[in-house]
This record gives sequence, structure tokens and C-alpha cells, in this order.
Amino acid sequence: MNASASSRIVSPRASAEQLKDPDQLIDSVETFIFDCDGVIWKGDKLIDGVPETLDLLRSKGKRLVFVTNNSTKSRKQYGKKFETLGLNVSEEEIFASSFAAAAYLKSIDFPKDKKVYVVGEDGILKELELAGIQYLGGPGDGEKKIELKPGFLMEHDKDVGAVVVGFDRHFNYYKVQYATLCIRENPGCLFIATNRDAVTHLTDAQEWAGGGSMVGAVYGSTKREPLVVGKPSTFMMDYLANKFNITKSQICMVGDRLDTDILFGQNGGCKTLLVLSGVTSLSMLQSPDNAIQPDFYTNKISDFLSLKAATV
Ligand SMILES: [Mg+2]
Repeated sequence: MNASASSRIVSPRASAEQLKDPDQLIDSVETFIFDCDGVIWKGDKLIDGVPETLDLLRSKGKRLVFVTNNSTKSRKQYGKKFETLGLNVSEEEIFASSFAAAAYLKSIDFPKDKKVYVVGEDGILKELELAGIQYLGGPGDGEKKIELKPGFLMEHDKDVGAVVVGFDRHFNYYKVQYATLCIRENPGCLFIATNRDAVTHLTDAQEWAGGGSMVGAVYGSTKREPLVVGKPSTFMMDYLANKFNITKSQICMVGDRLDTDILFGQNGGCKTLLVLSGVTSLSMLQSPDNAIQPDFYTNKISDFLSLKAATV
């Protein structure tokens, strides 16, 4: 090391660097964690060059992991989506926040005689079932209405020891009240959120209210901060690092969102790569209002291939 390198003044907030030498990045890590929507696919459409890019990384012996804050599907259901899109990805490589909620409860030895009340969709129910955890609520409660006759009191199950809240297209007042009663009245009841994303991209025509809106409603009535298991919280990163025995500095987190994906990678001490194939544009990244700077940015993950070809 020369003297000028060691005495170099490091700027307090380095800007993201455009990815010019993917091989150097690929060689510097052993695992790539990919966000899904905006990185691998957009809605139901595969992003160009993804299969070839994943093949290249696998041929170089890299471990690939896919992490999503979307809790509406289970790992198995996500596996089907990968298969439908022609991608060879196994269930063991997929980590959705539905799974993270169940994994968290298992990690704390959630008592067998306690139940989970679910505000969310099928994916959470499936994962709880696989983890052998009793639950109630879920999509079925979307039909339920409350009739506020004089003196009406809503009963709730005193054995609910945790409320899990995720994105829910059938969210209603019944669910908020039920979740609120459990959290406020059952001693020690946990409040777990799959994510607090403000918006999600249900269609590409506009942004839609995300999981953060359902979590926000339950926060509003309980004033209790939830325990977040999805990105950008470190639970999933710690879980993955433990499960696969990976050093976090040997991971590169690849995502299209700054406040979830890139922050998730940075919170975990990983290298980070922002792709511009999803919700973040170059002007958003470079805006003076943005404080989250990944190590690198590039247009899409298949730049791993084309940039490589360009340098040959
Ligand atoms: Mg995304």
C-alpha cells in the first residue's frame, strides 16, 4: 500500500459508482442476493437476459438467493412462478417475507399452544402451516363485517400470542379490531410485520398502497412498533448468513429499491448493486434528496454479460 492511498480523504457520503467491471464485483463475493420484482421480472414478465446471467453466475460457483418483501405467496408458490418463467430456481433459494415471519416465530420457539392471528394473504398461512404453527384469520376474515349494535362487544381468542401483518387486498375494519384486541389485551402478544413498504407495483400503471398501509393501521390503534422481518430489517440477512454459513462481506445485494433492498444490504454489511430496471431511476438515485447510495449501479443484471463482452 502506498502512502497516498492510506492518507486519502474519504468523503462522508460517497456516490454510487456506475458498474464498469462486473468481473471484479463477481470475483469479490461468493453470494448474490437478488430482489425479484424489478430485478428478475416485472410483474409477470421476465427481464431480458436474466436466465443467461443467472447461468453465468452459477457457472462461476456463486450461491444465488432470491429475497422478496411480497408476503402474498409462500416459497413453494414462488417456486412455481420461477418455473413458469423458465427459471431453474429451487424453493431453498427463495426467501419471501411470508417465510421470514414463520422463520422468526420458529427462531424464538413460539409456544405450541399459542396461535397467530394473520392479517394478510395465503402465503403467510401456508408458511405458518409448514412451520407447524397454529393460526387464525387470513383471507377468510375479509368477508367478515361488524354490526355495531348497542353494547356490541367483539370477542377474541386469548391464546393469540402473535399478530402477523402483511400486504392484504381484503383488509377491513374487522381485521384491524381483531388484531388490536389481541395486541392490546393478550399479555406478551407480539406484533410482527412482513414489511413496511409504502407502495407496491400491483400494476405498472401506478403505485399502489403497500404493506406499510396495513401495518400502519394496526400501529395507529395500538401505538406499538412492529417487529419487521422483511427488508430492510436485518432478520432475513442474519438468517441467510447463518443458514448458509456466509460472511456478510462476501454477499452482494442486488435490488431496484433504495429504501428496502440497498438499505437491507447496507444494514447487513454487504456490497450493494442498484439496478435501474425497476422503480428507481438514475435521477432518483442522483437526487440531492436521496441519502442512500449503493456501491454500484447499472441498468439491469444482464449487464454482467454485455459489459463483460464489451471488455473482451
Ligand atoms: Mg423490487
